[in-house]
Amino acid sequence: MTRFDIERQELVELLRTRGISDENVLGAIGKIERHKFVGPLFVAKAYEDTALPIGFDQTISQPYTVAFMSQALCVKRGDKILEIGTGSGYQAAVLAAMGCRVYTVERHLGLLDTARKMFDQLHLNVLAKAGDGTLGWIDYAPYDGIIVTAGSPTIPEPLKAQMAEGGRLVIPVGDKQEQTIMILTRTGGEYILQKETGFKFVPLIGKNAW
Ligand code: SAH
Repeated sequence: MTRFDIERQELVELLRTRGISDENVLGAIGKIERHKFVGPLFVAKAYEDTALPIGFDQTISQPYTVAFMSQALCVKRGDKILEIGTGSGYQAAVLAAMGCRVYTVERHLGLLDTARKMFDQLHLNVLAKAGDGTLGWIDYAPYDGIIVTAGSPTIPEPLKAQMAEGGRLVIPVGDKQEQTIMILTRTGGEYILQKETGFKFVPLIGKNAW
């Protein structure tokens, strides 16, 4: 066991005490090596429960947020998931480790490039493309789950349209300072909404956002 393995196990236990109970989520966080998704300057902090810089003014989300959103998606093995905001690739890697087929969209080519290399290196079932994720990714729609990892002023309509029947959309919505995580479930053409307050994300920038 390396120092990183021990720290990662401690992080899993911390997330458990903070209310994460989905064993599939905890198992994936216990498996994916977060220290490989941050630059050399931040490796020592990789298993602290904080967001960290990944360049281009962006951040890898706080582990609690990744765990909370992954749990809110209620995924089953084999589910098709769309992620908006690939960033470091860590959230996509966690979903892939949970048994999902992940499609992810990123607007910064530099981040996309590094994340793609990680997906290949770790042999993860993730397909990534460059683009404006506020438009979704129509080619593979509908999705069992859609997760947006940047804060949006409203819920982009194309994302609602690309949800499968019974599917979920997890998205932070608010102003640029603070966001509420909205969880939408599509049932019989209706969208049922739950809310969780007090999260902070970098802005979602695109046609249907900031
Ligand atoms: N899921 C990432 C979190 C990255 S932060 C991780 O695990 O590391 C959010 C990311 O959303 C940033 O990389 C930012 O460039 C990206 N982003 C913002 N607006 C976007 C848009 N319209 N389409 C795609 N990506 C977007």
